[in-house]
Amino acid sequence: MLWKTTEYSGWGNALTATGDIARPERAATLARILDETPAPAFGNRRSYGDAALNDGGRAIDMTRLDKIIGFDPDTGVVEAEAGVTLTTLMRLFAHRGWVPAVVPGTGFATVGGAIAQDVHGKNHHAEGSFGNHVKSISLFTNGKRVTASPTRNKALFRATMGGVGQTGVILSAKLQMKPTPGTAMQVTETRLADWNDQIDALTSSTATYVVSWIDAQAKGDKMGRGILEEAELTSADAPAPDRAKSVPVNMSLFSNGLFARVFNEGYFRRVPATGRSSVKRLEEFFFPLDKIRNVNRLYGKKGFHQFQCVVPLDAIDVLEEMMHKVSRSGLASPLAVLKRMGPDRAGMMSFPMEGYTLAVDFPNRARATKLIAELERMTAQAGGRLYLAKDSLAHGDAIKAMYPDWSDWAAEVAKADPDRTMVTDMVRRLKLRG
Ligand SMILES: Cc1cc2nc3c(=O)[nH]c(=O)nc-3n(C[C@H](O)[C@H](O)[C@H](O)COP(=O)(O)OP(=O)(O)OC[C@H]3O[C@@H](n4cnc5c(N)ncnc54)[C@H](O)[C@@H]3O)c2cc1C
Repeated sequence: MLWKTTEYSGWGNALTATGDIARPERAATLARILDETPAPAFGNRRSYGDAALNDGGRAIDMTRLDKIIGFDPDTGVVEAEAGVTLTTLMRLFAHRGWVPAVVPGTGFATVGGAIAQDVHGKNHHAEGSFGNHVKSISLFTNGKRVTASPTRNKALFRATMGGVGQTGVILSAKLQMKPTPGTAMQVTETRLADWNDQIDALTSSTATYVVSWIDAQAKGDKMGRGILEEAELTSADAPAPDRAKSVPVNMSLFSNGLFARVFNEGYFRRVPATGRSSVKRLEEFFFPLDKIRNVNRLYGKKGFHQFQCVVPLDAIDVLEEMMHKVSRSGLASPLAVLKRMGPDRAGMMSFPMEGYTLAVDFPNRARATKLIAELERMTAQAGGRLYLAKDSLAHGDAIKAMYPDWSDWAAEVAKADPDRTMVTDMVRRLKLRG
């Protein structure tokens, strides 16, 4: 197996690493590599910060381990290698009546990456996180290939869901998909005039899929305005896909406050004041940013950070104060979303908590990192938590205090990987393994 020295980064492009990468195509090759030089795995590096980086060390790119091992059309259980992307699952199985039960905002996430961050989707309040639909995994851990499930090697399973790759390398997983009547979404969009409208709408919606775009530049009476999207799977016909677009070079459009304000005004007005309803393709609804290749280049060479927190239902005032700070700063990019979360989570280090989750992108510059530190402090004070898939700036003590099962997780990881071969830049930065 060839190791290739590579410089690589997370989706935010703010943190980079240089190290040797192997890209095995077969399970047997992966087993041999792990026997000789155990190393952490990554998928499509859609985590924003350093979760998938191992600077100065080795790492395994899992994206060629992308075979579908089995599928039962009666039960909707699919067995897939860890490098299969969620878009692939959607494309292969939607027309046969099944879709992945949970998908994040990008279809480039792999099955391994979705498990290791226990990702959530627009249906979290109704259907839980990705790991809640994993029936079993096959994992290379401490020199052995082991099967873990909610009933077998239970603690290992719970340490692996959301466990940022620290229990070993996930080779494959059996996933319970959910039935769909067709290959499209019925989507209703509603304008929300201000913060109170946002919270009322997210609280009262009964739709299965709910997400709200928030204009993170709007101040005063308009603070918190946005657009609520509510959706259901449908058998209706969707329009043909648009042509894919691409950002050819680094440019700093999304780091420019004036551009963000003008963009947000247009984006808000795109939906009529009376709202609208339409049929969209699955991918257009679930993965709107994926249709622009290299969209992360819109932040320029220095990249960007995403701040994502979840705060409990009773901390809504703190979240409102955070939004005031964000809008007054004028630093936020147009990409900001608010979602309601339910209580379900599959692992000891899973992010979800019943409450509201806010995600905002900021350009990588000093004023923004100072603001993010303040938002993180407020999150901690509110009893909320930060998301490891997005983080690149937090401190370990703060993170450990936000995750009540952290010490159980660290103990399980110490058993699964006693020689600390799976440690990544994020784990080192946050001292997650003690
Ligand atoms: C545009 C965009 C929108 C997003 N929206 C959401 C959202 O709505 N909800 C949400 O939850 N997340 C969201 N994310 C984050 C994304 O879903 C997660 O970061 C996910 O983990 C990315 O998958 P990946 O395959 O790229 O994993 P990577 O980023 O490559 O890796 C993530 C972690 O998983 C580990 N890992 C990966 N593969 C394996 C394996 N085979 N075995 C063991 N460990 C492994 C890595 O070591 C790392 O710690 C979004 C990201 C983007 C870019």
